[in-house]
Amino acid sequence: MIDDIRAARELLSRHLPPTPMWSYPLVDRAAGTSVLVKHENTQPVGAFKVRGGLTLLAGMSAAERERGTVTWSTGNHAQSLAYAGHVFGVKCTVVMPGGTPAGKAEAVEAWGARAVRIGDSLEDAERYARQHAEETGARLISPGDTPELLAGVGTVYLEILEARPDLDAIVVPVGSGTGAAAACLVAAEVAPHCAVIAVQSSASPAAHDSWRAGEIVERPNRTAVAGLATGRGFALPQGVLRDRLADFLLVSDGQIAEARRLLATAAHTLAEGAGAAALAGVLSRPELFTGRRVAVVCTGGNADPAELATLSGP
Ligand SMILES: *Cc1c(COP(=O)(O)O)cnc(C)c1O
Repeated sequence: MIDDIRAARELLSRHLPPTPMWSYPLVDRAAGTSVLVKHENTQPVGAFKVRGGLTLLAGMSAAERERGTVTWSTGNHAQSLAYAGHVFGVKCTVVMPGGTPAGKAEAVEAWGARAVRIGDSLEDAERYARQHAEETGARLISPGDTPELLAGVGTVYLEILEARPDLDAIVVPVGSGTGAAAACLVAAEVAPHCAVIAVQSSASPAAHDSWRAGEIVERPNRTAVAGLATGRGFALPQGVLRDRLADFLLVSDGQIAEARRLLATAAHTLAEGAGAAALAGVLSRPELFTGRRVAVVCTGGNADPAELATLSGP
């Protein structure tokens, strides 16, 4: 897998410059330690997932590209595949639950993809996407169990650890766990002394609870933080996280909002909730991080209207 991540980096160098990574004195002061912020919010489509989408489509055969892709998502995964479809000229269909805000469908359609809003839940959307794949021959892309996506998003951790091999810990927000799994694989190879620590919302703890239980579990999915919202663990990332992840923290949606405000005021950074969750994890557990060199991944900046409205205070 590390070879796939290195190959993805080579390939992505033609499409994406490395993202910046900076520290900020007021963030350090709040955290009581030295914190580097990796700015994946500066990617096209505003999130790290674009690394996965581009890697996946770059590796598809001409025949596969001809048939197109179909996936289910409400957010950044959808935008990533839509953007990659635009770059490689591949037809992309994204199935979203019927209640998804129009703005999210528009963001996908703006890249030339087709958005289908149908059903009551992400599970309904997944079912429809599977049916569409069977009927049309389009390739079905699971947001959580696709090795090419894992290889692509792993490149962010190569960038971080090659720039700063002295890091003690990297803190990663988790939805499906793909990003955190990639971080573990890269750290094991490039900086084995660096601990990878995952963070999820306590309102949607399926990945956390799956990791603690050592088996895939389903949990209520009540977080308002879009990138972290999942009701089940995914087998591919959980299999990687099982032995390699150093720790897994839960934070509340309120703590995540607090971290968003700190990034806005102290790091001139617009983070969506998921993009601030790693920092929320660091702020929530100073005893784990004090005196250690820590990087947090600001995974995305697509703050929704509710997140924008609470930037000025709770
Ligand atoms: C998808 C997403 C996450 C979670 O990543 P996984 O690889 O699904 O665990 C975190 N932050 C943002 C901004 C995302 O879009």
